[in-house]
Amino acid sequence: MRLIPRAFALLALLAVAACNGHASTAPSSSPAGSAGPAPIDVVTTFSTLNSFVNGVGGRYVRARNIVPVGASPETFQPTPQSIAVLSGAQLVVENGTGIDAWVDRLVRGAGVPRSRVLVITDGMPVVGGNPHLWMDPVLAKTYVAKILTALVRIDPAHAAAFKKNAVAYDAKLDALTAWIRSQIATIPPARRQLIVFHDAWPYFAKRFGIEIVGSLVPAPGQEPNPRRLAELVTLARARHVRAVFAEPEYSAKLANAFAGSADIHVVTDLYDDSIGHRAAVHDYLSMMRYNTEQLVRALK
Ligand SMILES: [Zn+2]
Repeated sequence: MRLIPRAFALLALLAVAACNGHASTAPSSSPAGSAGPAPIDVVTTFSTLNSFVNGVGGRYVRARNIVPVGASPETFQPTPQSIAVLSGAQLVVENGTGIDAWVDRLVRGAGVPRSRVLVITDGMPVVGGNPHLWMDPVLAKTYVAKILTALVRIDPAHAAAFKKNAVAYDAKLDALTAWIRSQIATIPPARRQLIVFHDAWPYFAKRFGIEIVGSLVPAPGQEPNPRRLAELVTLARARHVRAVFAEPEYSAKLANAFAGSADIHVVTDLYDDSIGHRAAVHDYLSMMRYNTEQLVRALK
């Protein structure tokens, strides 16, 4: 029995190692050791975006995020260290549409030229001002494409490697999309509805034919509206919604209380505004797979 958790830990480590290996598909003829050029210094606002940067840049980038893993960009309070991370950044990757607007002030404070800032959702099909476009793996391909363009501009010598990496990452996104679709198909259609903590799921829901019946808070950090919550309890009961989902970066207290009132299941770890520390959710692809497994388990 004792060997089982250790075996799992080993498998998890292997999975991380394998993923890291896939991230660097650059040719081995250009050593990244002391003789090679320094990797491109990329600063992202939050950790989910690092997956796309690493996926395209591989060994030629060093991606760091301002908001720590497990924290939310929506309630983030910048610190002096946030500016320190930015100084020297060759590329700043911002999601945009308001979720990480605080970075603009930091960029000015750190003296980073505006031309080095990539605002991913500019020009993308934003709906109702909602910034969570990355939650749709098809839209995530636009994230990859924009990061590719930015990296090629900074380091044209490695354009071929970046393009190869981007094609490989796109293929993983296609496979992820197909897999999520196949998983959601196992949920009876009438049960493809859920209540979420905050409104991070409209793009995912639209892509995969799920209905978000409501969210517990208007936005992270904001107080829930008691009348709206009471209406949501009634709605959940009337429509036989099976589960409410909370997120690790926010307290599960409200979701637990809601689940008690509505007499439905509560799932406390759905990831959206941040990846997690655990191997199962350490990057975008694993996070999306994990979320899907959680959804299917709770709704099926
Ligand atoms: Zn969010």
